[in-house]
Amino acid sequence: MIKANYHTHTARCGHAIGTDEEYVQAAIQAGLTTLGFSDHAAYPTPCPGLRMNIEQIPDYYQSIRSLQDKYASQIDIHLGMEVEYYPSQWDTIREYRKTLDYIILGQHNLTIDKDSVYEFDNKDQVGRYVTCLEEACQHYMCDYIAHPDVFLWKYPRIDESVLNAAEKIADISRYYDIPLELNCGSGVRTGKKEYLDGERYAYPTREFFEIFAKKKCPIIIGLDIHNPQHFLTEENLNRALSVVEGLPLNFLTDYDLVSKAKERKKLFW
Ligand SMILES: [Zn+2]
Ligand SMILES: [Zn+2]
Repeated sequence: MIKANYHTHTARCGHAIGTDEEYVQAAIQAGLTTLGFSDHAAYPTPCPGLRMNIEQIPDYYQSIRSLQDKYASQIDIHLGMEVEYYPSQWDTIREYRKTLDYIILGQHNLTIDKDSVYEFDNKDQVGRYVTCLEEACQHYMCDYIAHPDVFLWKYPRIDESVLNAAEKIADISRYYDIPLELNCGSGVRTGKKEYLDGERYAYPTREFFEIFAKKKCPIIIGLDIHNPQHFLTEENLNRALSVVEGLPLNFLTDYDLVSKAKERKKLFW
């Protein structure tokens, strides 16, 4: 099992289970030495089942901070969130950037509550997705890009626009020194699916990571945990690793994401 995971949810988002403390205990049991909580960021409009409500934020902060103290001798706990880049939500994002130890960028929609990446079927959407990632990095609002290939969930085939997107995301990662995530969440958990050009996991996809290997992008593994039990199995991790088997990827080991985040926060605007 890996030693650090910065992609961990809590029941507050409405599609994860267990108490915060159960996540901590399972992570310790799995041998992790660093645990970052990164639940789905709240925005002023509620969206039950997808992200926490703004009213739950104080409890989230308080709970993770107190676990950080309680388990300090056993595991390093950090308070983060998985945030989307939505220019319309800039006040909320600014507040998160100020308060949190780190932010991962998980772009699930192009605009808040609209244009879901899980419904992509054309190249214009892909282009707009890449622009969101690029602008988020330009603003230094995030410390790694979660599941960069998430929009392949439904996308019918790995075509030219997908490869172009991977090239551009790789360039963004190198330019801003932002790690890209090999995600071990629903893309592999739900098993392989049939697409127009064959069978694959929705994400991660080998074509993306071939380009990330070629461009020597920094890569970080994210378990995208939604259930404490997920810490206790390597099945999803092994599935994700099987996708990139044999690629000379630049995996970050002993990467101090939180110290890097402190530096990036100074550049945030
Ligand atoms: Zn989730
Ligand atoms: Zn996530």
